[in-house]
Amino acid sequence: MIRMGKEIMRAFEKNIRKVEPYVPGEQPQNKVIKLNTNENPYPPAPGVARALREMDTDRFRLYPDPACTPLVEALSEFYHVNRDQVFVGVGSDDVLSMCFLTFFNSEKPVLFPDITYSFYKVWAELYRIPYECQKLDEDFRIVKEDYYKENGGVIFPNPNAPTAIYEELEVVEDIIKANRDVIVIVDEAYIDFAGRSAVELIGQYDNLIVVQTFSKARSMAGMRIGYAVSNPALIRYLNDVKYSFNSYTMNQASLVCGVEAVRDKSYFEEGIRKIIKTREWAKGEFSKLGFRFLDSSANFIFATHPEYDAKELFEALKAAGIYVRYWGSERIEQYMRITVGTREEMEALFAFLRKYMGK
Ligand SMILES: *Cc1c(COP(=O)(O)O)cnc(C)c1O
Repeated sequence: MIRMGKEIMRAFEKNIRKVEPYVPGEQPQNKVIKLNTNENPYPPAPGVARALREMDTDRFRLYPDPACTPLVEALSEFYHVNRDQVFVGVGSDDVLSMCFLTFFNSEKPVLFPDITYSFYKVWAELYRIPYECQKLDEDFRIVKEDYYKENGGVIFPNPNAPTAIYEELEVVEDIIKANRDVIVIVDEAYIDFAGRSAVELIGQYDNLIVVQTFSKARSMAGMRIGYAVSNPALIRYLNDVKYSFNSYTMNQASLVCGVEAVRDKSYFEEGIRKIIKTREWAKGEFSKLGFRFLDSSANFIFATHPEYDAKELFEALKAAGIYVRYWGSERIEQYMRITVGTREEMEALFAFLRKYMGK
C-alpha cells in the first residue's frame, strides 16, 4: 500500500488509467423543452422509419459488415468522392477519438482552441497526447497564425462550438497549408448550417481529414453515426486502427437507417432551411431582449446578457422545464448555449424570458 497524505491508496491504483471524463449535456427523461445538446427538433427522413418497419431482423443473427459498405457507398456518392475516402464510426465522437489515436502520436503538442469542443482535451489526456490550447481572440475567433508554429497535429471545429462562429474556407485552407507535415482534422459537426465544407480541399491536401456527423443536421443523434472524409491512405490508417480495436463498431440497424438518411437529400435540405429560418428569427428576438451573442452559423446561439447572470438564468430556465447548456468555465462564465429548436419551442423560451425580465 502507498500512503498519500492521510489517504491510503491500493498499489494497483497507480497503474490505473485515470481520466476526467467528458460531461455531456443532460438527457432528462421527463418532457422538457430541450435546447441543451444541439439535437435536431425534426424527425429523421421518412425513409428511416420505413427502413426500421421493414427491417430484416433475422439479419441481426449475423455480425454486421465490418466495412460498412452500403453506408460508405451512399456517403461517397453524396460527397462525390471514392469509397476508399470514407470512414464511418459510432458517431463522430468515435471517429474523432480514432483519429486522435491514429494520427496524433508525436512528442510535439497537438493544437486546438481554448474554447472549443471539450472532448478534444479528454481524448488527448486519455491517450497521453501532449496538447496546447490556442486562445481565441476577444471576439472568440480563431487566430490562424497561432497554428503556424511547430506542432504534433491540429484539430478545430468549423463552425466552432460552443461559439457557433464559422471561419471562411480560406482561413481553414491557410491553416492546412501551414501544417503540411502534420495531420489537420476539421470537425464539421455543424457545417450544413454554415457554409463551404473543407471536403472540397481533400484532393489538394494529403494531410487533411474532415469529420462530420448524422447527429445534428441529419436528426439521428440516437443512431450514433459519424464519418471522416480524407484521402485513401489516411482512411486506410484509420481502418487499420479500427480493426485493431473492434471490427464491428456500426450496428446493422444504424447502417441501414444511415443509408436512407443520406439518400433523401431534399428532406435534409428542407430541414436545414427550417432551422436556419428559426435561427435568424431567434437572433432578432434575443436582440430585442438585450442579449448579446456571436453571429451563429450553426444550429445554436451562444448568448450573454449584460444585466442577468448566466448561471441564474440557466437555473431559472431549467426550473421552468427549458433546458439550455451552461458551463461556467473560464472566459465563458456569462454565456449560455441555446440550441435552435422548433419555432414553437423558441416561442416558449422567449415567453419565459420576457416574463422573467418583466418585459
Ligand atoms: C455534437 C458534436 C460532435 C459529436 O457528435 P456525435 O453525436 O458523436 O456524432 C463532435 N464535434 C462537435 C463539435 C459536436 O458539437
